Amino acid sequence: MSARILIVEDNRVNLELVEYLLKAFGYATFAAMDGQEGVRAAKEMHPDLIICDLQMPIMNGFEVMRELNKDPLFRQVPVIAVTALSMPGDREKILSAGFKGYLSKPIDPETFVQTITKFLPPELRAQKVQRIN
Ligand code: MN
Repeated sequence: MSARILIVEDNRVNLELVEYLLKAFGYATFAAMDGQEGVRAAKEMHPDLIICDLQMPIMNGFEVMRELNKDPLFRQVPVIAVTALSMPGDREKILSAGFKGYLSKPIDPETFVQTITKFLPPELRAQKVQRIN
């Protein structure tokens, strides 16, 4: 079965692009448009992977990660940051916060799903992605 993926993103255009791409490859997606809603959705749905924007109102991506880190249930769930930041040291800051990886905006539709898929165990990877590989 393909992974269930939660997308936490306050920018509607980015959110719709990411949902569209993941669904096209066969993933089930769920969306939250701010960090607080994202934490709530994560606890309700227990997604297999979380894609999380860093710059959001109410709770930013780092605050979301801090909340998820408190819950042992999320230890096995990869959280991937999506960021417009590109300052020296950002990579270390993001990874040391607990994110398993990060992608820079703008999102590249050609490589996005393949990159996300690498963070999933083989049994949760979408069939369509496996055929491409
Ligand atoms: Mn944002």
